[in-house]
This record gives sequence, structure tokens and C-alpha cells, in this order.
Amino acid sequence: MTALKSLEDLFVHLLKDMYYAEKQILKALPKMAKKADSDELRQAFEHHLKETEGQVDRLEQVFELCGIKAAGKSCPAIKGILEEGAEGMKDAKDPDVLDAGMIADAQAVEHYEIARYGTMIAWANQLGMGDAANLLQQNLDQEYGADRLLTDLAEGRLNRQAA
Ligand code: ZN
Ligand code: FE
Ligand code: FE
Ligand code: FE
Repeated sequence: MTALKSLEDLFVHLLKDMYYAEKQILKALPKMAKKADSDELRQAFEHHLKETEGQVDRLEQVFELCGIKAAGKSCPAIKGILEEGAEGMKDAKDPDVLDAGMIADAQAVEHYEIARYGTMIAWANQLGMGDAANLLQQNLDQEYGADRLLTDLAEGRLNRQAA
């Protein structure tokens, strides 16, 4: 790993980390949508897939603002969260149980993203990078929205069906 000597180095590290994470999420969401039994859940995954494409674009804009080439850096955290989700998808034998499990795993992803974007926004502001903070805030708002929708779906019906 390259030496992290400044807050800017830390910021760039997280930027590369999240760029990698969003790209992994782009690959996972279509699989989750395909497996979803509930139409609402499938639509939620498909909607967030579209949003995630926009998030990758915004991260590329942030790279540009930093004057560096967009490049991902392998993130063991998102790999682990997605691996755990994929395992659950293999093991679930009932469609309602599968949906409830996928919601739980998707929320773990959203919460990871919320944690990371929250930090990145604080650092961007500290570094005087207001435009970058704005772009990241748009991503963060979408992660909050996705998380809320998943909660609504789970509490509305899907958990009950799985019980
Ligand atoms: Zn990292
Ligand atoms: Fe995202
Ligand atoms: Fe990470
Ligand atoms: Fe997300």
C-alpha cells in the first residue's frame, strides 16, 4: 500500500475503494434482481442498479476534480459482504426466505456505503472540495433512499411471508 501521509491521501484511498465497491455492486445487483421472488423487491434492485450506474459516473467526476485517473482499489470489506450475500442466496430453499435474506444482505451493503460516503463527504469538506462533497452527497442520498425502501419492503410484507 502506498503511504498515507495526509487527509487527501486518505480521501483518495477511500475514493478508489468506493469506486471498486460500486463496480462490484453493479455486478451483484442484476443477480439479486433475477433471484428476487417479489416483484417489488426485483424492481427495487433494478432501480438501485440504475442509480449505481450514476454513482459510478459521479465518482469518476470526483477523480477528475482530484486530477487523477479513475481507478479502483480492491476492497476486502465489500467483497466479504457480497460473498456472504451470495452464500445466502445459494442456501435459501424457500423464495420468501430468500427475499428476506437478500434484503438483509442488501442493507448490509447500503450501510457500508452510507458509512463510507459519510466519511468521504466530511473529508471533502475539510479539504475545501465542495464540488466533490456535493457529488458524494448525491450518492449518499441514494444509498439512504435504497436502505429506506428495503426496510419498507421488509416490514411491509416480506418478513411476514418468510415467517
Ligand atoms: Zn480500503
Ligand atoms: Fe452505491
Ligand atoms: Fe472498503
Ligand atoms: Fe447502494
